[in-house]
Amino acid sequence: MSKVFVIDSERKPLDPVHPGEARLLLKQGKASVYRMYPFCIILKCVMEQPEVTPLRVKFDPGSKTTGIAVVNDATGEVVFAAELTHRGQAIKSALDDRRAVRRSRRQRKTRYRKPRFNNRKSTKKGWLPPSLESRIANILTWVQRLSRYCPIAAISMELVKFDLQQIENPEVSGVQYQQGTLTGYEAREYLLEKWNRQCSYCGAKDVPLQIEHIQPRARGGTNRISNLCLACEPCNTIKGTQDIKDFLKKKPDVLQRIQAQAKAPLKDATAVSATRWALFERLQETGLPVECGSGGLTKFNRTTRALPKTHWCDAANVGKSTPIVLHVVGVVPLLIKATGHGRRKMCVTDAYGFPKQHKERKESFLGYRTGDVVKAVTPKGTFQGRIAIRHRPSFRLGKVDIHPKYMRRLHRADGYAYTQERSA
Ligand SMILES: [Zn+2]
Repeated sequence: MSKVFVIDSERKPLDPVHPGEARLLLKQGKASVYRMYPFCIILKCVMEQPEVTPLRVKFDPGSKTTGIAVVNDATGEVVFAAELTHRGQAIKSALDDRRAVRRSRRQRKTRYRKPRFNNRKSTKKGWLPPSLESRIANILTWVQRLSRYCPIAAISMELVKFDLQQIENPEVSGVQYQQGTLTGYEAREYLLEKWNRQCSYCGAKDVPLQIEHIQPRARGGTNRISNLCLACEPCNTIKGTQDIKDFLKKKPDVLQRIQAQAKAPLKDATAVSATRWALFERLQETGLPVECGSGGLTKFNRTTRALPKTHWCDAANVGKSTPIVLHVVGVVPLLIKATGHGRRKMCVTDAYGFPKQHKERKESFLGYRTGDVVKAVTPKGTFQGRIAIRHRPSFRLGKVDIHPKYMRRLHRADGYAYTQERSA
């Protein structure tokens, strides 16, 4: 069961409580709602030296979505779960858009200038493209937010895809590649990375891949990782126990490529992407202990605990600290989508780049901003959702226009949009 965050009147985070208990506190007037997303209540009294159980926040950083879970290591309870969708491509296109506008402005009515293209300083060390930088910023924001509402004492994140130490001399000695063992999971992740997540023979992607002996076991092939590749089901069946040279007799180029790729060992560092590494370094700056896990270990933990493959479940299973039993029944993730804080562009253009209308400089109107979540009780019915302000007394809420006099703000715009599904 997802729990409700509680802070005392001095805004010190306390132990999260069961939603029923939170409801009672609110009903008795001992607490009030502090924040909608994530739901947090504030007590009307100060707790003298409260005893809190330290919690661990865990991340599974992905390119589009990052799973977040707050876990109580002592009881194995998942206290809070969320799935954070990053902006990624939106940032790239916004920057391209800006560049195009600037370029056309600066080229308009100017004398001829020599082309300038190679006069920029080399990029700083540790520079990341803005779209990746925003992913890191999103995660850091949520570490800060969560530690404001619950007693967080440690962080876990998935840093690498596979852990070479677990496989032990993968290119020299044999490996256990079967599912069910930790080394098996690490070996699978290693192979997926080495063979680019596609069938080695036909290049099929997004199909279930099987581990395949290049030189079949029946013909004396070993279990060394240099003798393993990935094949889709049809290729694996057709190949059977044939010798690789017989199987690829008509495709000498494929044979050559596979033999070369099989021999080249994958370096450990290639398993860590620049984004994850930068995230790890910045999480360390928070001063909390940061535990790192591998993708293989996450998968192993999740499978042995028979949990579904979701982003937040993966997050809860990151690292060696994962409790033996994870209580996930009734946990409903908060779906968070990074939306940004609007843009500064004053001129709204149509699809062809011609000016359509101009924006007001003021970002708020009658105390409301675009992105606020409001509840409106109007004669026509009750509406709830995110508003877009207009500089006239009616705002857009979904597809309807609503006058602010009917509105009550539930949540201030903070650069994210939220969807909370109800637990079944
Ligand atoms: Zn294939």
